[in-house]
Order: sequence, then structure tokens, then C-alpha cells
Amino acid sequence: MTEDEMWKAVSENDDAYDGIFFYAVKSTGIYCRPSCKSKLPKRDNVGFFDTSIEAQVAGFRPCKRCRSDLCDYQPIKEIAQEVKTLIDEMWNEKHILDKQLKNIGISNRRIVDIFKEEYGITLTEYIANLRLEEVKFLLKTTDDAIIDIAYSIGFGGISSFYSFFKKRVGISPWYIEG
Ligand SMILES: [Zn+2]
Repeated sequence: MTEDEMWKAVSENDDAYDGIFFYAVKSTGIYCRPSCKSKLPKRDNVGFFDTSIEAQVAGFRPCKRCRSDLCDYQPIKEIAQEVKTLIDEMWNEKHILDKQLKNIGISNRRIVDIFKEEYGITLTEYIANLRLEEVKFLLKTTDDAIIDIAYSIGFGGISSFYSFFKKRVGISPWYIEG
């Protein structure tokens, strides 16, 4: 996260970032969770810390209002891991995956952002990589026709499969088969 993004979360009292970072106010010597409802400090007075401990080591006291000292969980990390586990298990069953992702209870956009933030890769790319690994595996280890492999990995047809493969591997799947 950039400081601008952190400041935005603080300005909006966004509790999605509780546990992800803390902000400390130089004029008061107190540090808070992003969601703290106390009056918004001046931007110039604010510093950011990754953990509660770091803020304390730097000489700040926990806020009595938001109890920033009791906040050590990382909901975003947990969400990101949950999403990743779901994808790893059911990336090839899109409608089931979509349903499971919905059950997490946050918007698709937010899931996409959280995943990118945590793993440095977009959801789409991540799934594409999994597909590609599976394709390579099947090409090397089975005698299945390429068209059958394409369908089993969820491609609508041979041409979309072909361009997907060529774009990522640089050669056509025919060279890998067998
Ligand atoms: Zn506070």
C-alpha cells in the first residue's frame, strides 16, 4: 500500500484495513487502527506503521478509543488466502468457484484488489497460470487429443485455446504434445 492509499483508508475509517497497518499522530503521541472514529488528524502529523508493536517501539501509545493495542489480526490476508485456496481447489469449475467467492461476502472488485495486493498478480493471471500448468501436464502425460484437452480445461474451442497457449508459451501446443 502507498501512503496515499493508507491515508485514504484512514480518512474513510475503513475497517477493512484494521490489522493491516496503523497510523500514529505525532501531535498526540497516539496510534490508531484505520477505522478509529476519533477526529481525523492533519495529514502532516500522521505516520504509518505495519504493526502495533512497531508503533509502540517508535514511542506511540495505543488509542483508548479504538484499542489499537488489541488489534493484531489481518482480515485482508485471511481473505486473500481463502480466495487463493478456493481457486486452487476449483479453478476449473467456474460456476462453483463464482458461487464460493460470492459466499465470502465482499464485492468481486474488492476480492480482485485484495488478491492483487497480497500476491502481486491479478486473479485472471493466476487462474491462467493454473490452466497453463494443467494443459502442459496433460499434453505431456496423456494421449488425449489437443481438442479434448482444450475442452477439459474449460476452453470454448480450439482457436481460443491455441491463442491462449501461444501467447503464454510462445510456441503452439503441438510442439509440446507427447
Ligand atoms: Zn484510535
